[in-house]
Amino acid sequence: MFATLFALRYNARMIYFDNVSKTYIDGTMALDKVSFSIGQGEFVSIVGHSGAGKTTLIKLLFGEERATSGAVLFDSIDIKRVKERDLPTLRRRIGVIFQDFRLLSNKTAYENVAFAMEIAGKADEEISSDVPHVLDLVGLGHKMWNFPRQLSGGELQRVSIARAIINHPDIIIADEPTGNLDPINTYEIIQILKKINDLGTTVILTTHNKGVVESLGKRVITMDHGQIIRDNPVGEYSL
Ligand code: ADP
Repeated sequence: MFATLFALRYNARMIYFDNVSKTYIDGTMALDKVSFSIGQGEFVSIVGHSGAGKTTLIKLLFGEERATSGAVLFDSIDIKRVKERDLPTLRRRIGVIFQDFRLLSNKTAYENVAFAMEIAGKADEEISSDVPHVLDLVGLGHKMWNFPRQLSGGELQRVSIARAIINHPDIIIADEPTGNLDPINTYEIIQILKKINDLGTTVILTTHNKGVVESLGKRVITMDHGQIIRDNPVGEYSL
């Protein structure tokens, strides 16, 4: 199917928002002529008050919402022109981590991660060798047979990170991943995201946590009222 997508290529940046605006059906303008690009292997934090447009920006990236005007390119593919039936293939290249974990409560940590591989059509042998390996990487190998109710918030977020990276996405989007965590778990989850980034995966993090952004020392995009008001190459959080 990528043959059709290749026809839409027009540059080599990993993510490119070209003058993107988004107005919801009720008339709310969530994004107002936003332009930026993110290169392969970058670690970028997106900060801003509630309602600034961070979630909308992320939804446009994986095709959950469509831009009203402008172009959103992922690996040079114009997302607006990807057909509905081709979106799952695109989304497999993007791993998403949510604040509220979104794990299946009737499956163990192992099964939650394995399920993502099953959906992607991976073979049983690959699943049984990769899942313990990735759970080890996030420091949860010893609890892989626990159900979500038997895990702490920090541990649940580790499972959700393992699930996001198991199919080797090009990019990880972490939407307020430490919003429900205490400072120690916050620190550890951010260290895991840094490790994933060091291994070559692009990471986009949305957060309200000033300490996290400043300790990362990476690029920070600040949003306000649907616009980018600052794009700082080395972490500074000032709203
Ligand atoms: P953030 O993630 O920074 O809190 P959002 O992208 O969620 O910001 O929201 C940006 C603006 O768009 C807000 O004014 C919000 O109320 C509005 N908005 C978000 N989703 C919808 C929607 N589905 N319909 C109408 N307005 C929306």
